[in-house]
Amino acid sequence: MAKNPLSTRVQNMSESATIRMAALGREVRDQGHDVISLSLGEPDFDTPEHIKNAAKQALDEGKTKYTPVPGIPELRQAISDKFKRENGLDYAPEQIVVSTGAKQSIANLAWALLDEGDEVIILAPYWVSYSDIVSVSGGVPVPVGAGIEEDYKVSAATIEAAITERTKFMLFSSPCNPTGSVYTYEELSAIAQMLSKYPDVLVVSDEIYEHINFTGKHVSIGTFPELKGRVITVNGFSKGFAMTGWRLGYIGAPLAIAKAVSKMQGQSTSGTNSIAQSAGVVALNSSLAPTHEMKAAFERRRELMIEGLGKVPGFRVNRPQGAFYIFPDVSELYGKTDGGDYTINNSDDLAEYLLMKAHVATVTGAAFGAPDCLRISYAASEAELKEAIERIARVIGELK
Ligand code: PMP
Ligand code: GLU
Repeated sequence: MAKNPLSTRVQNMSESATIRMAALGREVRDQGHDVISLSLGEPDFDTPEHIKNAAKQALDEGKTKYTPVPGIPELRQAISDKFKRENGLDYAPEQIVVSTGAKQSIANLAWALLDEGDEVIILAPYWVSYSDIVSVSGGVPVPVGAGIEEDYKVSAATIEAAITERTKFMLFSSPCNPTGSVYTYEELSAIAQMLSKYPDVLVVSDEIYEHINFTGKHVSIGTFPELKGRVITVNGFSKGFAMTGWRLGYIGAPLAIAKAVSKMQGQSTSGTNSIAQSAGVVALNSSLAPTHEMKAAFERRRELMIEGLGKVPGFRVNRPQGAFYIFPDVSELYGKTDGGDYTINNSDDLAEYLLMKAHVATVTGAAFGAPDCLRISYAASEAELKEAIERIARVIGELK
């Protein structure tokens, strides 16, 4: 091929760091090393049995055809009911669009909402794909950050300072990937009040970790009356129901936005997998007992991680309130060396050092807009986590 065939858009896009680290971990494993993978955020549990049975039944009933683009009516109804029942949110079934994972939901929104040069305020640290999804859609990501001292939560005043004429929406997750931080009712209320002065700014609230929240009740920013009619709530089945491979996510949105997103999806992937959608109805309409059991397991593992990593010199460990990630600030280690091949000048170096020397896969904080931090997923067994902590402590101990 004489000429580079790739678009500038795709060349400017970075590869997802979570997916890259997971692949690198597999490569090192294929070379014969016993790698503990704490890179990809994926529950290690199997999908609950009653949900799998619903999929088998859907197949037997011949639910194998194209579905309506925004989702089967039963699922849109079940999502609308769930929003009302669990979150106090009013989205009619026509305001729901089901997609192939929450990742597609967010990409659909960016394509449907952004004109060239529109700005998106992203609360940092943020989930790895947000900024690339915004840029590839022609938007300008405007990250506004907070450090470990603020428990990685951005104040209303800091957000306000970033608002301009071009701001289209604000995008965030709570519970947050990568930090595990959870915005409190008061913090969200302050943000809602501040945004009441800017009626053209929309809010995209990614609540995919709502069920993995150790602080008590999940709060949806869409419940604040100041924001009525301009919050898009994103959610999905991957985390709360351990359904990552099923690829099922959704939004509740103002009607015009839901219709635009559906139009967009009608020209790309069409309706999501029919079998997954039928299983999704059963997941939402059944007891959440299996979800609560998974949450309890994540909470035990969180304690193990805080305690274990808290003793590793150079790791400033946060206390995550939800999700299944811990996000230590590791900047104290900069400048240290093992006396051989490795010098730690940033968290990319540290992630590489841990993979190559301890065979523990993590992800650099740089991918999440926080270059001094390291993301460690604790969606792994307690035995693996203990072993990972020991290995990390050992190789960090070798740095001088
Ligand atoms: N948002 C956040 C914050 C996530 O961590 C993930 C998981 N990768 C997603 C969205 C996308 O989830 P999925 O596409 O599996 O529904
Ligand atoms: N949410 C997960 C993570 O952050 C899945 C991987 C991805 O889709 O990026 O690791």
